[in-house]
Amino acid sequence: MTDLAGKTVLVLGGSRGIGAAIVRRFVAGGAHVGFTYAGSQAAAQAVAAETGAEAIKADSADRDALVATIAARGPLDAIVINAGIAIMGDPLQTDADAVDRMIDINVRAPYHAAVEAARQMNDGGRIIVIGSVNGDSMPFPGGAAYAMTKSALQGMVRGLARDFGARGITVNVIQPGPTDSHMNPADGPMAAFMHSTMAIKRHARADEIAEYAAYLAGPHAGMITGALQTIDGGFGA
Ligand code: NDP
Repeated sequence: MTDLAGKTVLVLGGSRGIGAAIVRRFVAGGAHVGFTYAGSQAAAQAVAAETGAEAIKADSADRDALVATIAARGPLDAIVINAGIAIMGDPLQTDADAVDRMIDINVRAPYHAAVEAARQMNDGGRIIVIGSVNGDSMPFPGGAAYAMTKSALQGMVRGLARDFGARGITVNVIQPGPTDSHMNPADGPMAAFMHSTMAIKRHARADEIAEYAAYLAGPHAGMITGALQTIDGGFGA
């Protein structure tokens, strides 16, 4: 594959799951890829050794460190803002600090990262954020705060698409449905319920999400911007 040949790309949260699949796909497409991680050093080193991508320790919850990391990469052709966590449970029982940390990682970080990336970005660049189908719907209790963080990304990409469109920079949010990962294992306790809501009754593979990200970063997607890119097996149909 050469669809991303010569592109300089940064993936936030590339050590595991969907982010690691995105690193693999972008490297396979010919891109020069760096990726961040926060806690999973061994996994990050394994992805780096496998792909040749550069692993960079940078906690998305630390705004100054995140912005400095992006600025240090110089002009980017694409950024994929994937890092995210899910804090779910009874809102009356859930630790408020844990919810605030999720908001920091899932909302504050994507906004400041997207803005800094655009500051550094070549014209025609691509900003891709990994949201969730839960930004559109939350069909079970306990997910209000997580859904809130993913809905926030919808407004963000619409607005930033307007801000950066004159430079040909596109801004989109990919909204996966259930996708097999540490966060949401295909054999986890919620899997059967999730599949019951879907037209295609299985978890997506991370590489299926990565392929969508590669398309949005590639040469044929220059007119797709400010839009919700849902890939959910009919979860929301
Ligand atoms: P995983 O838990 O498997 O992986 C999360 C990745 O994000 C890891 O590489 C992790 O790195 C990184 N990360 C988490 N917190 C931070 C942080 N503070 N700073 C830097 N990196 C961080 O999750 P998924 O792959 O499933 O999820 C990836 C994205 O996709 C998330 O935004 C999630 O909300 C979204 N999503 C997932 C779905 C699913 O069903 N799996 C469905 C819809 C959306 P480290 O371990 O080093 O901290």
